[in-house]
Amino acid sequence: MEIAANRMDRGFYQYQKEYEEKALEVLRSGWYILGKEEATFEEAFADYVGVPYCAGLANGLDALWIGCKLLGIGKGDEVLVQGNTYIASVMGISINDATPVFVEPDEYYQLDLTKLEERLTPKTKAVMVVHLYGHMTDMDALAAFCKEHQLYLIEDCAQAHGAKWNGRCAGSFGDIGCFSFYPSKNLGAFGDAGALVSSNPDIINEAKIFRNYGSEKRYYNKVVGANSRLDELQAGLLNIRLKHMDGITKERQELAAEYSAKIHNPLIICPKTRSGNIPVWHQFVIRCEYRDRLAQYLKENGIGSIIHYPIPPHLSEAYGYLGMKEGTLPITEHYANTVLSIPMYNGMTAEEQEYVVKCLNAFQV
Ligand SMILES: *Cc1c(COP(=O)(O)O)cnc(C)c1O
Repeated sequence: MEIAANRMDRGFYQYQKEYEEKALEVLRSGWYILGKEEATFEEAFADYVGVPYCAGLANGLDALWIGCKLLGIGKGDEVLVQGNTYIASVMGISINDATPVFVEPDEYYQLDLTKLEERLTPKTKAVMVVHLYGHMTDMDALAAFCKEHQLYLIEDCAQAHGAKWNGRCAGSFGDIGCFSFYPSKNLGAFGDAGALVSSNPDIINEAKIFRNYGSEKRYYNKVVGANSRLDELQAGLLNIRLKHMDGITKERQELAAEYSAKIHNPLIICPKTRSGNIPVWHQFVIRCEYRDRLAQYLKENGIGSIIHYPIPPHLSEAYGYLGMKEGTLPITEHYANTVLSIPMYNGMTAEEQEYVVKCLNAFQV
């Protein structure tokens, strides 16, 4: 049997008719950027997250860097961010000439809140929490820490659409919540798309001006902005997918429960869930000391897998200028060497999952 690490086409076929109808409707409408689909999506998505305001943007990285910029984060500022994140989180900080300060993750792969205080300096301006793999840390404790130290709280929610901490959604705790709708995300578009959410109307108004060359009224430019608009086709398709998010999330939670119950191999560590958190399982990430051999073995058995992420940002060439050597973030680096994401996608069949479980349980060294 051949099982890819991800199958985005399955997610499309689940609601094919609705997507195709909406795509045709938008194509025939004669209006393609910043229109009624976009306005509808902003309102519906804010409602979904449980915040009052949302600005649709072109992608998740833009939500991060534009969001940081609008909070006033810039040169001379430090932002605490977890070491084991996707590099986009870090770029959201460094594009603004601010300095990322890395914090080690905990046993749930989330920001280790016990290690924040030791990284504070007079320059610290914000904490960026990344709800990695669709899980969340203790957001009440983190919000309290930020309040105590007068820091902005930025949420990178690119992997956590609908994830909950004590009943509240990811994106509703911070000064800003940054979302990506890249096709492989839980709420995925069919191209690039993103959004910024906030309970602060000024930030969202400014984002809506900034994304359109800094103009509110056509050809009257208030600030030097960017082109980061969410197009009508993506917004329309996102409106369809958003209506089905509860089902999409439930399906992923069931797949995760099945993996957790059935994988029994002493060489493999399954992910744990912090109590108080309802994860949305953007990835199902196992760990193995023989990770590369395991990935190779799975490949030989027709099963795809992905490493999220093989090179932590602090060791990437891009951040060589920070001068951080191997060994400076031992937990982050250990995770980079041992994590493996196994196949997990909407529309995965019971037969496919059983086969993956069977192969994992038969792995030996
Ligand atoms: C996908 C992702 C992003 C970036 O989103 P894009 O839409 O690809 O720019 C940022 N942070 C995390 C954690 C992500 O997974």
